[in-house]
Amino acid sequence: MNPSKIVCVGRNYVSHIKELGNEVAESPIIFIKPPSSLADLNSGIDWNRSLGECHHECELVLMLNKTLKKERSLEKCLASIGEVSLGLDLTLRDLQTKLKEKGLPWERSKAFDGACLIGEWVKVSEFSNLDQVEFQLEVNGHLKQKGDTAMMIYKIAELLSDISMNFTLEKGDIVMTGTPSGVGPLKSKDELAMSLKSDKKEYRWQTFVRDEEN
Ligand code: ZN
Repeated sequence: MNPSKIVCVGRNYVSHIKELGNEVAESPIIFIKPPSSLADLNSGIDWNRSLGECHHECELVLMLNKTLKKERSLEKCLASIGEVSLGLDLTLRDLQTKLKEKGLPWERSKAFDGACLIGEWVKVSEFSNLDQVEFQLEVNGHLKQKGDTAMMIYKIAELLSDISMNFTLEKGDIVMTGTPSGVGPLKSKDELAMSLKSDKKEYRWQTFVRDEEN
């Protein structure tokens, strides 16, 4: 199913806020990637290298199987999640820094074609508590990012409720819940592996950075 949008959450882990020298926000920071930013893990990661560094941000992602509109009930928000996976919120960091300095929107750094890669979906029923889910990202066999949803500033149900107050989340929409610390620049031919622990097993998805074109 194609999402109508991919909603992303910024600055949701204190460790990542510190590494970029940002401030803790008073409410969740949200932005949107278009469906055209979705790319296949098997086709790899690519970006316009003339725009500078592209950082990996590994995040827990959710897919909704119900519409959420101005929903205050945290229980109903949780019950709207159909599936869970890990994704990469790819970010052109040099460009984003310039845009932030000028107070401009981030879209040019976050919404480009191929800026969003997501693993296969896992049924939410495999997770007894979404507020205690561990995941990680390795680059070339080295652990780079280690996440635990217990460390989120805004928990998953609160995020969904807050987002639904701003705009309707439709069935099939995707929410990226923010990245833990350890973000960093990608290089040609890097091999990336994301791992996600459900109650039953550990899932693992791989992708790579395409060789610089031309
Ligand atoms: Zn992110």
